[in-house]
Amino acid sequence: MDLEISGRKAIVCAASKGLGRACAMSLGRAGVDLVINARTAETLEATAEDIRRDTGATVTTVACDITTQAGQAKVLEACPEPDILVNNAGGPPPGQLADWERDDWIKALDANMLTPIFLIKATVEGMIAREFGRVVNITSQAVLSPIDILGLSNGARAGLTGFIGGLSRKVARHNVVINNLLPGPFDTDRYRGNLAVSAKAQGISVAEMARARAAANPTGRIGDPYEFGEACAFLCGKHAGFIVGQNLLMDGGGFNRSF
Ligand code: NAP
Repeated sequence: MDLEISGRKAIVCAASKGLGRACAMSLGRAGVDLVINARTAETLEATAEDIRRDTGATVTTVACDITTQAGQAKVLEACPEPDILVNNAGGPPPGQLADWERDDWIKALDANMLTPIFLIKATVEGMIAREFGRVVNITSQAVLSPIDILGLSNGARAGLTGFIGGLSRKVARHNVVINNLLPGPFDTDRYRGNLAVSAKAQGISVAEMARARAAANPTGRIGDPYEFGEACAFLCGKHAGFIVGQNLLMDGGGFNRSF
């Protein structure tokens, strides 16, 4: 399917690895000009080169911490008028209530709630004026079904979700659509890291834990980041204009519910 966004401009945050990288790759395949970001310049450059080689897209890199105001300003300087914004950042560290002090909560809120809100604030008026905008926030299955060791994520992302529910309905009449994409288990560095924490807590090996997780999913496997990137690109496409303020769960059906 032609997503009809060739030549559009996109910012994809936290995109050197994992889900962000997959989203950038899929948008590149759709002909979008990309500004991609991550903190580590070397990995970011390598990813940019992969995307250029595989898709022919124009890719600009901005190495910075997107959760800081300075980082956000640098990314916006590189792409002041994006048509597409994919909000992403590293997830908060695992732990339990007793581990988390005020600073930990502030960091989680900055990364997983306030950064997307401020990037939207900086770009949405231009999208409205140009009568086209697509924003995808990468959140988590934790928004619907809290994950025991990821309380910081459960909390911070719920705040973003509530805010987006309201804002998305205010801007939709200008063909600016904002949605949240909720990953379940996808095979990324972060997933593997959290797997190791859970395996240790249960006293089993990481390989056993990985097998158990895959077997417990209705699909019998965990997700491929490629699948996530393609779904993200669709939500950024011309044809997604009537999908507004949704929380699209991609978890292989792992969250057990009828609707
Ligand atoms: P990942 O494989 O660890 O990749 C994280 C990416 O974000 C890297 O490119 C990393 O590069 C970049 N990054 C991290 N912190 C950043 C910051 N402050 N500023 C700029 N870039 C930053 O993680 P992932 O699995 O793709 O996860 C992406 C998001 O989805 C996370 O919020 C995660 O919690 C959420 N999620 C993932 C899963 C899953 O199964 N994978 C499930 C639910 C939710 P640098 O380190 O070089 O900055």
